[in-house]
Amino acid sequence: MQAAGADLLHFDVMDNHFVPNLTIGPLVCEAIRPHATIPIDVHLMVRPVDRLVPDFAKAGANLITFHPEGSDHVDRTLSLIRDHGCKAGLVFNPATPLAWLDHVMDKIDIVLLMSVNPGYGGQRFIASTLHKIRAVRARIDAWKAQGGQDIWLEVDGGIKVDNIAEVAAAGADTFVAGSAVFGAPDPGGGYSEVMSRLRDSAQGASA
Ligand code: ZN
Repeated sequence: MQAAGADLLHFDVMDNHFVPNLTIGPLVCEAIRPHATIPIDVHLMVRPVDRLVPDFAKAGANLITFHPEGSDHVDRTLSLIRDHGCKAGLVFNPATPLAWLDHVMDKIDIVLLMSVNPGYGGQRFIASTLHKIRAVRARIDAWKAQGGQDIWLEVDGGIKVDNIAEVAAAGADTFVAGSAVFGAPDPGGGYSEVMSRLRDSAQGASA
């Protein structure tokens, strides 16, 4: 993925508890780390969260995001992630209210909006996410206008070549693509071709 042009490696951790599926843990992150120079973006779909944060930081994560419903103490978890030297962020399911952001904007480096309900790859983008992206964009811009730090706005779920421009135009600056890329034929340059089409479409929309 790095050779194909990815800026980040998005790493989906599911625990068969917070979401009904089971994926990979810190050992796999640690095994990938020596093969990548780009940041590893760990998305924790787990409950509880705190126990795994130090493990992923040690395994080479650069960003760690979690769902507020997975933590008993959101403020504490955000601080724990930063204390371990990683960028920290909150993830919002389609039905999770943005009010979770109200009192923690100073502790956030990234907001991750789910454009599908998490648990499985290959789902279709939920169109109402576009309103939510605009709402988060407005919050981040207002925060920065008051002198706040940079906050990335990442979108995860059903991003494809044919909808990434809309997502970028709504205000996202970071995009997770799974099946759009892995579904392309490779070898044969399919991964890098999809990656550059995604990048061109996103940049065209936000330019
Ligand atoms: Zn994810």
